[in-house]
Amino acid sequence: MKKFQSVRGMKDILPNESRFFRNLENVLISAANQFGFKEIKTPILEDTNLFIKSIGDGTDIIEKEMYTFVDAKNNSFSMRPEGTASCARALVEHGLNDSINKVWYSGPFFRHERPQKGRYRQFHQFGAEFIGVESYEADVEMISLINFIWKSLDVDPVLKINTIGDIQDRKKYILVLLDYFSKYKHDFNEAEKNKLKVNPLRLLDSKNKNINEIIAQAPKITDHISMESKLHFDSILSILDKKNIKYEQDDKLVRGLDYYNRTVFEYIDKNHESQNTICAGGRYDFLFENLCDKNIPALGFAIGIERLLEYMNYNLESEKSNIFYIAVMNEDNYLYSQNIANIIRKISKNYIVSNSYSYVNLKAQLKKANKLSADYCVIIGDEECSNNTCQIKNMDSGYQDAVDLDNIETYLKSNIDDGN
Ligand code: ATP
Ligand code: MG
Repeated sequence: MKKFQSVRGMKDILPNESRFFRNLENVLISAANQFGFKEIKTPILEDTNLFIKSIGDGTDIIEKEMYTFVDAKNNSFSMRPEGTASCARALVEHGLNDSINKVWYSGPFFRHERPQKGRYRQFHQFGAEFIGVESYEADVEMISLINFIWKSLDVDPVLKINTIGDIQDRKKYILVLLDYFSKYKHDFNEAEKNKLKVNPLRLLDSKNKNINEIIAQAPKITDHISMESKLHFDSILSILDKKNIKYEQDDKLVRGLDYYNRTVFEYIDKNHESQNTICAGGRYDFLFENLCDKNIPALGFAIGIERLLEYMNYNLESEKSNIFYIAVMNEDNYLYSQNIANIIRKISKNYIVSNSYSYVNLKAQLKKANKLSADYCVIIGDEECSNNTCQIKNMDSGYQDAVDLDNIETYLKSNIDDGN
């Protein structure tokens, strides 16, 4: 019989891993909420043109990474490769783009890339978008939020930051770059020659070691930006210095998507050479112009959840919980045991209760409780059932108490730390 497997590059997240996933997501969500961001959920599918218009031709995503299909009515849809375009589309569609808006999202994204460690075809991002503020304070706020997240997780990736100026600056800079790179055309491979034609900026973040030196000597974008852009960037750096937030200014950092302008940044795991970008973001003051007629300043970032988990080595404290296993000696006591399970669940959300569904001897049930890593085994026999009690056994100490159902809340609260 044919055994089905998950699609290449798309993995199952099984219970052992999913709990880290969920814990991490909870930390990210609570940080974003504390900074005043609210959740936005957008569909997985969007009109293909939304991504083409916002991310831009000549980017890897548009050229080769999107999962695109045509439906029965000949409409072209794509599975979202990133979150910003969808957020911007939703805010415009619902008329929410006029006021200051701070939103976060978390979910799966899809890119047809070569699967390898840290690079999947379905992966997850947690991102935030800050709409409506042009001044440098918004940039600082985003970086502060991300740093707050790293502090909560006790990690310290390196912040790399740059400015790529405004659209006009970039147009002029691209001409300078073209002039420079054209001298080295014979050193480029086919893909690089193509980049030179379509989007020479993208050569700057090439990972090809053979052209390292050429890139290192290339004219710097920071020497070709307007005074306003420079002032905006200097203000950010000066506040970061005052806030004691460490960063590395990297004038080769350009970011892959077309919609960025001015500030671009990444957080990097310095111990790895590839797939080491954990979080990436930047300003995109010109994206909305493509989606509605208005000019709305904005910026955002996205954290790759899989990359962050791998960077943290899945080292994430879980919320404190206590596991109860209910051992029932006799089918006649089944309903009674269900009742006790619900009473315990209601006492604290950090009490996890599983019922036994086989009425084998106590020894076998205690073994099962151990296998489930239960902290407590609640034992119910005929006697407990008839006098409205249960036995609660501490699986660590082996100590056991008979507890009256009327007192169970007081008993558990005074004997068990539920983390609240
Ligand atoms: P990279 O340079 O690694 O390809 P990118 O510039 O394409 O990254 P963004 O589009 O900025 O990445 O996405 C933000 C973050 O999402 C990345 O920093 C990374 O952590 C994560 N990410 C991007 N693509 C993938 C993928 N295919 N699999 C897993 N995580 C990814
Ligand atoms: Mg990529």
